[in-house]
Amino acid sequence: ARARRERRERLHSLLDRAAAYYARYLWESNEAARARDYLAARGLNESTLRTFRVGYAPSAWDKMLLGSRQAGFSEDELLATGLAQRSRQRRGSLYDRFRERIMFPLADSRGRVVGFGARAMRDNQPPKYLNTSEGEVFHKGSQLFGIDIARRPASRAGSIVLAEGYTDVLALHQAGIENAVGVMGTSLTDEQARELERTARTLVLALDADGAGQEAMVRASRIAAGRRLELRVVSLPQGMDPADLIQRDGAEAVRERVGRSVPFVSFHVDKVLASADLGDAEGKDRALAELRPVIAPVPPSVLREELIARIAARLGLSDQLAATLLEQQAAPAA
Ligand code: ATP
Ligand code: MN
Ligand code: MN
Ligand code: MN
Repeated sequence: ARARRERRERLHSLLDRAAAYYARYLWESNEAARARDYLAARGLNESTLRTFRVGYAPSAWDKMLLGSRQAGFSEDELLATGLAQRSRQRRGSLYDRFRERIMFPLADSRGRVVGFGARAMRDNQPPKYLNTSEGEVFHKGSQLFGIDIARRPASRAGSIVLAEGYTDVLALHQAGIENAVGVMGTSLTDEQARELERTARTLVLALDADGAGQEAMVRASRIAAGRRLELRVVSLPQGMDPADLIQRDGAEAVRERVGRSVPFVSFHVDKVLASADLGDAEGKDRALAELRPVIAPVPPSVLREELIARIAARLGLSDQLAATLLEQQAAPAA
């Protein structure tokens, strides 16, 4: 057990050292001038970037490797942290996994680095994001980007804002929304939900306003169901993410939208209504069938009445009739 703990300590210190190296490289090297310009053009200021320890990985194939070895780390440790990988061709020598990328350190809730998300600088260097692969210290499924920085503000506020991307979390933080974390993609896992539940009671979803993001909100609600999490949704302009909005309309615009978040059920009703074909009676019946389980868990309340009124208006029914139809059991399938 002691040996295991010592190994973990070494792997963490290697990762912390790597983060510090990449950060220094971002701020001090000539090579990273382009990356500094890119980040500035995205509206991210130096203080925000330093808070999140953002860095830059050089284009060379072995800078991290050589520096880490000189500092006394072994090949095995470099592989275990995912910083290096073994080449198949050149007699199995190691090379740096991350090159010519902007580096976002991923930390655990205590701030210890466990991995990296790395963004390509150009569109012709796919993939756009390359992450540390699953391993001894990094587990994507339980990771929330920015949790170390957002934990205190979130527990103080009683709410935590969940975005998809690294740049969303940075931009939100810079806009004064310091209780923001990133899910690093679109699917919230059960482990992440558990971590969120430990931090705050209200989970405010600020996922991308595109098809993938909207679907992800519905999936997130299933993951959150049964947990003590009150789910709310931020509405963003079509096709945008929080970082896009902040860059286009400024910090106040996003603060205002986060402030006007709606209960998840309200978002869900609107989503069903927006995609329903309400051209004829059968289409309306299908929409009602889809809405019934959405409305069912909402207890008698003003919110419930408002949702029913909204559905009634869209379907051209009286509130009374809509309420009756929504409360009926679905007919058994023929
Ligand atoms: P940017 O604003 O830098 O263009 P984004 O964060 O808006 O990027 P999305 O495509 O919306 O990018 O993806 C959201 C998040 O999903 C990313 O920030 C990243 O954490 C994760 N992600 C996206 N693509 C990949 C990938 N190919 N591999 C691993 N993670 C990815
Ligand atoms: Mn997205
Ligand atoms: Mn983006
Ligand atoms: Mn995005």
